[in-house]
Amino acid sequence: MKILVAEDQEPSGLALRKTLENLGHEAVVVASGAEAWERIVAEDWRMVITDWMMPHLDGPELCRRIRNREDAPYVYIILLTGRDGRNDRLQGLAAGADDFLTKPVDRDELSVRLAIARRILGVQAELEEKNARLAELVTTDPLTGLANRRRLREVLQTTTLLSGRKSQPCSVVILDIDHFKSINDNFGHAAGDATLKSIAEILKVETRRSDLPVRYGGEEFVILMPATDEDEAFTVAERLRETISVKTQPSQPVTASFGIATCALAQGLGIDALLDAADQALYRSKERGRNCVTHFRELSQV
Ligand code: GH3
Ligand code: MG
Ligand code: MG
Ligand code: MG
Repeated sequence: MKILVAEDQEPSGLALRKTLENLGHEAVVVASGAEAWERIVAEDWRMVITDWMMPHLDGPELCRRIRNREDAPYVYIILLTGRDGRNDRLQGLAAGADDFLTKPVDRDELSVRLAIARRILGVQAELEEKNARLAELVTTDPLTGLANRRRLREVLQTTTLLSGRKSQPCSVVILDIDHFKSINDNFGHAAGDATLKSIAEILKVETRRSDLPVRYGGEEFVILMPATDEDEAFTVAERLRETISVKTQPSQPVTASFGIATCALAQGLGIDALLDAADQALYRSKERGRNCVTHFRELSQV
């Protein structure tokens, strides 16, 4: 295990490092609580052994800081102490320590305590992994493997903020398959599903890495394009429209209609307004006879 040791007395620190290394662990010793805190914030430490008495930032304060971090993985903390009074233990536990060791450290006891730490951290890591898989699952569309609406919302929150800060435009493209109901009606639901999958593939292949293709609803897709202005978005949409009409022909031609909206800095367009504008543009494409691309700006230029 990789272990960070905070110990202000050099001989104790060296002795502990030696013992830890003899037990097969990898130990880094720092000479103050402040230094330990810096390393914990900057690097990925899961196991910390800290002395109690250190100037400025002592062991209990280090525990409190580690426990007060938000969105950080669990850190297992063993508090080293020359003390073993009841009150000290209570204080140490209240500060967030997982375990105690009394100085001078007994090698066998250290070994057993670290085995417990490893077990707890193992369970914790499994939980983190499961949570990550779950998060991935709830933000992915099972049929196409594209991001779903929930993921789009998450990303949009940060992207529009970002585009505002960096004064870069951000475009949203909505596309809706034309007469999709008739594909289902004429060729069956499975053929409909296959069409959705092949369109999703086109969107994955034909968009940039910074773009986010999304299955927005039944036969509607959205592509979020950060740092993309009106003209660029139009070019991409036009290319996608062309590719879809050429490539996806299970038994009958498939086409899609597109709507685009772009939000520029200071325009103050929120997430919902942006999607709504793109949707209005899409509606116009349907009115114009389908299989075409409309940018929202064209709507206000009538
Ligand atoms: P328009 O050109 O006006 O968009 O016509 P449309 O037929 O595409 O639109 P409509 O909204 O009438 O029909 C959408 C159809 O999409 C109806 C629904 O059954 C089908 N659909 C939605 N989700 C799925 C899906 O996951 N798989 C399949 N096969 N069909 C789906
Ligand atoms: Mg000390
Ligand atoms: Mg639709
Ligand atoms: Mg449709």
